[in-house]
Amino acid sequence: MTIEPESRSSEEAETPAGWGFSTKAIHAGQDPESTTGAVTVPVFQTSTFAQDAVGKHSGYEYARTGNPTRTALQTALAALEGARFGVSFASGLAAEDAILRLLEPGDHVVMGNDAYGGTFRLISKVFGRVGITWSAHDLTDPAALDAAWPENTKLVWVETPTNPLLTVVDIAAVAAVTARRPQARLVVDNTFATPYLQQPLAHGADIVVHSTTKYLGGHSDVVGGFVATDDADVHDHLAFVQNAVGAVPAPWDCYLTLRGAKTNAARIVDLLVGHPKVERVLWPGLSSHPGHAAAKRQMSGFGGMVSFTTGSRESALLVAESTELFTLAESLGAVESLIEHPGAMTHASAAGSPLEVPEDLVRLSVGIEDVDDLVADLTQALNRIP
Ligand SMILES: *Cc1c(COP(=O)(O)O)cnc(C)c1O
Repeated sequence: MTIEPESRSSEEAETPAGWGFSTKAIHAGQDPESTTGAVTVPVFQTSTFAQDAVGKHSGYEYARTGNPTRTALQTALAALEGARFGVSFASGLAAEDAILRLLEPGDHVVMGNDAYGGTFRLISKVFGRVGITWSAHDLTDPAALDAAWPENTKLVWVETPTNPLLTVVDIAAVAAVTARRPQARLVVDNTFATPYLQQPLAHGADIVVHSTTKYLGGHSDVVGGFVATDDADVHDHLAFVQNAVGAVPAPWDCYLTLRGAKTNAARIVDLLVGHPKVERVLWPGLSSHPGHAAAKRQMSGFGGMVSFTTGSRESALLVAESTELFTLAESLGAVESLIEHPGAMTHASAAGSPLEVPEDLVRLSVGIEDVDDLVADLTQALNRIP
């Protein structure tokens, strides 16, 4: 593919190196607006920009190609990931689609055997149709991946912690295996951890992808996606696809995501260990979790996502349908707590595949309500299990 970087976003994000995480969230890419001094980045709700003469303009021509609200969001999120470049999309899956367009027929994608169902559906059902092959591996065993390395692998797709089983993959270990094949790149879906807890580029990842719908948006009011990278070739590809395909986030959505990234804070709550109706609790913060050591190395906290099993599909559905504060809904990573049954909801598309999830699994996204109220709500729901 010929790469024509033609988007304003191809400019490298410039953020002072010494800024801390919170300062970047508030100020990176967000200088007061130049004509009015508006302190908050305005919603530039316009499709086009006036030109002084042909080709003489402010840097913005047409809003699919570039929009100042989007530039601010891209700059801020890139700064949070410690990345040179950031590119925003209309959804997490649109962001993943743009990365996967790096591939050509005959190329291979290595996936984990546990991942977000929509990622699996995109790789297997959409890219599978045009000659991209895939295989699912236990990425917690990088030596096994090294030994089984499929020919023509161009992307290794890691999610850590995974959705919904909270498996932790050692990013540096998989990066070392991937780096032995110069034609392959390592992608890390950082949706569950957020850059606050984990910055995959620092551990050797080439590309970081987010569903900003989740923690980065943080308020269950916007759908979006984001990709960060230090690789100028990858960035030029992404900026080209962003403009050429057009799955761009609206200015208002960029504004909401930028605002959400400033205010959201995950509260880690371990509600479940010790309850007699809970069989297994999946949370990387537990010392019994197989990925605990890797999580401690690469994450600064363990996140607000907790999954658990109840022994049967019926009891899992009963709990998911019996809470009051935990809202029964797909999605995650917002100020309000959510509960769901992955087998029937978010991961239904993985049924019958190597990525199928247990039928007695319940997934929680713990929000920032008072912990005592959340514990009481979940306890009454669990106590309904006969
Ligand atoms: C939700 C999710 C996605 C997809 O993002 P959308 O914004 O829903 O398109 C990708 N990866 C993970 C881990 C997710 O949870």
